[in-house]
Parts: sequence; structure tokens; C-alpha cells
Amino acid sequence: MAARVTLALFLVFMALAPLLVPEFYVTLMNYIGMATLVTLGLVLLTGVVGVMSFGQQAFTGLAAYTTAVLTTVYGVSPWVTLFAALALTAALALTLGFITLRLSGHYLAISTIAWGIAIYFVFGNLEILGRYSGLDNIPPVSLFGWALDTGRESYYLIWIMTLAALIAARNLLDSRSGRAIRALRFRSVMAESYGVDTAMLKIIVFLYAALLAGVSGWLYAHYLRFVAPHGFGVNAGIDYLFMAVVGGASHVWGAVIGASLLTLLREWLNDLLPKLFQRTGNYEIVVFGVLMMLLLHRTRDGLAPVFARLLPAGPGRARPAEAPALARREQPQSGEALLEVRAAQKQFGGLVAVGNLSFEMKSGEILGLIGPNGAGKSTVFNLITGVLRADEGEIRFRGERIDRHPTKEIAARGICRTFQHVNLVSAMSVLDNVALGAHLRGRRGTVAAMLRRDRAEEAQLLAEAARQIDRVGLGSHLFEPAGSLPLGQQRVVEIARALCGDPLLLLLDEPAAGLRYGEKSALAELLRRLRAEGTSILLVEHDMEFVMGLVDRLVVMDFGEKLAEGLPLEIQTNPAVVEAYLGGIE
Ligand code: ADP
Ligand code: MG
Repeated sequence: MAARVTLALFLVFMALAPLLVPEFYVTLMNYIGMATLVTLGLVLLTGVVGVMSFGQQAFTGLAAYTTAVLTTVYGVSPWVTLFAALALTAALALTLGFITLRLSGHYLAISTIAWGIAIYFVFGNLEILGRYSGLDNIPPVSLFGWALDTGRESYYLIWIMTLAALIAARNLLDSRSGRAIRALRFRSVMAESYGVDTAMLKIIVFLYAALLAGVSGWLYAHYLRFVAPHGFGVNAGIDYLFMAVVGGASHVWGAVIGASLLTLLREWLNDLLPKLFQRTGNYEIVVFGVLMMLLLHRTRDGLAPVFARLLPAGPGRARPAEAPALARREQPQSGEALLEVRAAQKQFGGLVAVGNLSFEMKSGEILGLIGPNGAGKSTVFNLITGVLRADEGEIRFRGERIDRHPTKEIAARGICRTFQHVNLVSAMSVLDNVALGAHLRGRRGTVAAMLRRDRAEEAQLLAEAARQIDRVGLGSHLFEPAGSLPLGQQRVVEIARALCGDPLLLLLDEPAAGLRYGEKSALAELLRRLRAEGTSILLVEHDMEFVMGLVDRLVVMDFGEKLAEGLPLEIQTNPAVVEAYLGGIE
């Protein structure tokens, strides 16, 4: 509610502002709006997904020049050229995206600088683009024959587009795709394990960021009525990145804050510094750099969280309402062959992590996979889920080979896992983390999310997530950031997330580690109930009391190989197992 009121007040202010302030400030606000569009793209791309781009001005420039040439040379209407400009921007973004998003870390950042520089010289050297002096006499945008040729009229065009982009971005982050997008930065293996096509999502975010820059470029050309290469140099790209970081690189509204602050500050410093130093020069860049360092020293997350604290706190989110249940998979017949691992082999350099390992699992059983630290248990999970590829051997699920399938396809068959090293998106709520587990049970994509056409499905996904969280006993922590829970409970959140995937086979990697006695018995009870419902469980666990009282059968591994297999009682008295665990001391 408070958020709504704040937003409403902000919108009223934005609607009235140009009528109340002098033309000069209207001009500044127009610049802020256009910069916000580009910065918003960077908030998603750099802040949320973690892809650093110094090259957004290339997209701005491409769109600006496209519309400039088409309107001045060919007399096409600006509304038509908007589509042409965005189509070209999209084509460039997809080409660059497919080539560069594969690169990681600083290689990617460097390649964005490279294309930024390249396109600047393309603009500057082409005759048809007016070389370094650019193109002028670009017509203003007209609406129903009414030319938007003053700052105040352009203001409304610029800010309606900017606000629409902001709201769409906020909607996107608060959706099925949004949860997956927020996992891309640090948790992409986990996201793939729940069926997210991480490469595709990255491309989509990259494309959205490029299109926002394109819209900004189109607005820029028709507002200034003039384009020249210097508006699209590498320094412009760095400015946008500054804005995103200062505003708060992972907060949608941080784009407005960053763009406003830097635009106003630059204006003010441009005025003040020459008076101070009694001569002209680009002093503001130096002052900028220093302020930036001070700011980041004080608040890594930029200014958005600082502003958020100034606003009245809302009543908090309400528990998701009940919604029609999602469709469930049909569980296989109890006793049907479910998982077969045949002579699987995995080496890391000279180390045989898994060697010639074979075992089978029938539907409806809990199979324990035990062994000393480093025996290769987690590696087995990674082979089954396709996170790692076996060097040799076969893995079959319900009779079908899966060992050459990508992780997300294996997930789609109903294998859900937890991770030994907790793999949650720490800043995201418990509810959203768990709902990510149901990713494959939803269909709605990014565009539907932006337009809020996904609400019915989203309600189902969130209701399912809340049900599974209740089931594991964490119902009172729905809205806490997952990273704030004790480690033992974070593992339990992982179990709820796996359950959200409606698993046929549940892979649990040390789920009881860090739990207290009472919590362990509650977990054992839950696993028994799941088995009774037909879910099969492969369980890695060190707590022998927990394991022995729960599992139907055990496979024991040591140094990557199978040491023994059998019923709990047989294993407990197996001399080889006793030797491996106790080092031969009887
Ligand atoms: P467990 O889960 O039984 O404790 P792991 O499967 O994690 O054992 O590890 C088995 C062995 O493989 C260990 O010696 C470990 O150091 C090694 N190992 C696991 N993953 C990797 C990796 N990605 N690269 C290199 N070595 C690895
Ligand atoms: Mg392990």
C-alpha cells in the first residue's frame, strides 16, 4: 500500500513538474529520462545478471542514426523509423550477444569496449552519416499531426516511455522469469538444474537492455534534432555505467536515482568548477571520479537502498493466497526400474572421482549413498543431473539414457536435487527461492511477465511454493532473505525448492547437516511421507543414525568405487565398510 502511494505521488509529481519549473529544468529532466532508459538496461544486465557492458551507447547511437537517416534522407515518419531503429538494434544486439555472452568475466567487458569504440568510428567515417559533423534537421516526433517540438511536449513523450520501461522491468523481476534472472549471476548451475535456459535468458536480458538504449537513442535524435558521433563515444558508455552503479546496480528505481544524480551533478559542477578554478576545463570528470569512489566506499549497493529506507515501510508482503494446484506428474509404479548407473567413470586430471561405479534404484525406495569425505558422492549427483559429463559409462532414467542430455532437460524428466554447498539466491526471499523450483511447472515468459499477463499462473506457483515451505516447517520465514537463515535451515529451503519441482527422483546431498536433533527427526518423517507418496529418494548423508533408520538399501563408496551394497543391517556388519570408516580399528 505504502509503495502504491509513493508511486502515485511520484507520478503526480512527474506529471505536474514541467508545468511548474523553468524550461531549463525541463531540459535537464528530459536528459535524465533518456539516460534512465539506458541505465535501466544496465541495472538488469550488470546489476542483476552481472554482465558488465561499457558499450550501451553503441545501441543508442545505432538507433539514433537509423532514425536520423531514414527521416532526413528518405522522409519516413519517426513512428515507422522507431520500429526500423529497434529492429536494427535488436539485430546488432543478438549478433553481439551470441558472440560475446559466451565470454566470461573481463573478456566480456573488454569486448564491449571494443565494439563501443568500433561503432564510434563507423559513425565518424561514413559519408551518409555526415562524418564527424553528424546529421541535423531531424524532424520532431508528431502525434496525430501535432509536432512535439518543445521541451515540455517532448518531456511527456520521454517520460511516458521511461516509466513504462521501469514498470515493465519491475514486473519482469517479480515473476517466474525474474526469479530465474536473479539466479543467473551466482547460481546458474542451480538454475539449470531446475530447468532454466540460462544462456537464453541472458540473451533476452541483453536484448532488452539494448532495446532500451535504442529507444533512448530514437528519443535523443528527435528531441535534439541532431546527431553526431561524440554523443556515442566510450565516455558516454562509462557514464551510463556510473549512473547504474551510483543508483544501485540491482534496483530498478536506482536507474532514476543514478541518472538524476549524475546529470544534475554534472550540470552543477560544470557551472561551479570553472568559477572555482578561474578557468575552463573538464574538472567535473575528476571530481566525479573522487565522489564515485567515496560513495562506493560508503555504500556498495548504491543509493537506491538508502532512498528506500527514507520511504515509509510497507505492511510487508501477504502470504500467497490459495490458488488452483499445479498439474502433477504421474508417479511410476512402485518397483519399476528408475535409475541405472552403469560403469560410470569421472576423472579430474589424474584423480578418479568416480570409478567404474554401477548401481540401480527402483521406484519408491530410499537409497542411501554413503562413504567417507571425498569418496565421490557429490560427483555422482553431478553426473546424474548432467552438471558434469561422465567420461565413460551410462546413466539411464526410466530406461532412457540421460548421460548426454543437458542439465535442464534432465530436470524436465523429474529429477530434482539439493546441493551440498547451499545454492540459494541469498538476497531473494525464501518464497521466491522455493518458487524457482517450480520453474518448469509454469509457462509464462518474459514478455507476459512485463505486461503482467502472468498473474494467474504466478499465483499458482507462489501458492505451491508456500505449501512446500509449510511442509518442511519453515512457514514463518516466507519473506526473509534466504541468506539470513541459519545454514541448517537453508538446506531445508533447498529441500522445499526440490519438492516444488514435483520430483519423481529426489537427490538430497547431506540434507541433515547442521540440523538439531528435533529438526532431523522431522526431516526423516517428511522423507518417509514422501516415499509413501511414491517419490524415490537418493540420499547422501553422514549422520549414520539418520541414514540407517530411514533408507531401504545402501550403496557404500570409497575412493570413487563401490565398496559394498545391501540392506542397512548387512552394511553395518560388512568388514570392508567398517574398515573404510574406522581405518581398521575394530
Ligand atoms: P564427496 O561428495 O563424496 O565428499 P566429491 O564427489 O565431492 O566427494 O569429491 C570426490 C573427489 O573429487 C574429491 O577428491 C574432490 O576433491 C574431487 N573433485 C570434486 N569435484 C571436483 C572438480 N570440479 N574438480 C576437481 N576435483 C574435484
Ligand atoms: Mg559431497
